[in-house]
Amino acid sequence: MKQGFIKKIISNQYTLIDLDTKEEILASARGKLRYLRLDEKSSFNKQETMKTKKETKITTISPKVGDNVGYEADLDIYWISEIKPRKNDLVRPDVANVDQVLLVFSCIRPDFSFHLLDQFLIIMQQEALTPVLVVTKIDLVDEAMLNELKMALQYYVDMGIEVYYVNSKQRIGFDVLTHIFRDKITVLAGQTGVGKSTLLNALKPGLNLKTQEISEALGRGKHTTRHTELYGFNQGYIVDTPGFSKIDFKIFFQDDLKKYYPDFQNVSHLCKFGSNCLHLSEPGCEVKKRVEEKRIPASRYENYVQFAEEIKAQKAKY
Ligand code: ZN
Repeated sequence: MKQGFIKKIISNQYTLIDLDTKEEILASARGKLRYLRLDEKSSFNKQETMKTKKETKITTISPKVGDNVGYEADLDIYWISEIKPRKNDLVRPDVANVDQVLLVFSCIRPDFSFHLLDQFLIIMQQEALTPVLVVTKIDLVDEAMLNELKMALQYYVDMGIEVYYVNSKQRIGFDVLTHIFRDKITVLAGQTGVGKSTLLNALKPGLNLKTQEISEALGRGKHTTRHTELYGFNQGYIVDTPGFSKIDFKIFFQDDLKKYYPDFQNVSHLCKFGSNCLHLSEPGCEVKKRVEEKRIPASRYENYVQFAEEIKAQKAKY
């Protein structure tokens, strides 16, 4: 069996790159692929709700862009016969094995949101995605305001997150940005108006990416051809859609939230209740102590408390 990588899908037509020859091949998928028996450890077996347990089952899987696949050939007919386990699996955009997400945030219009940043970071942790933060529109704020933002973001830099500041119009900050795409599949994320499309079009002129954000209201109920494509860019790939902006995390227990805060996890052994501490109302909590000492940003902790309350409220509905 030959090995390939799916670069493009239009309806049921798959464009593969052969991993050995780097040749492009047009392939189809046969029916049997769509019904795989999964065990509970399979990367295709996802826990979707609190009530669905992971279990051995037969399920429907279609190959998607980003998949590593096995394929077979008979004369000049090619078909995909196996999908390799996925590292992660996004629905919108419909891509597997994403290496990193560019979280695009503007300094202003809309204002930088630490609430949204913390929320994105939880999702990145959950989906095993690496975040890279790109701050746009630095030309629209004065130096004092930009420095204030940089100081606030230093905490995240210390957590190991790469942060870049750019002005897409004048391509300021772009030289350092281009290296990050190498050998990776990159998706863009960010709320409407932060300049995702402007950034992408400035990064790769001529790619002619859709500058219009996809309206959910417009898309609903309308039949559209399945089309997702990865574009080669600086020896890596970027996804052709403006990326995902609507996010909600699937966390059902307050206990689970703290798992997605590596900075809290790192100090929880100093909490009086150790790994049992939720960092909420417990006495002797190291996280709360550090918030008071301004070693953990107050906004990050406040967002944590708010997410914890949302999880509790949602649980009450079951
Ligand atoms: Zn604690």
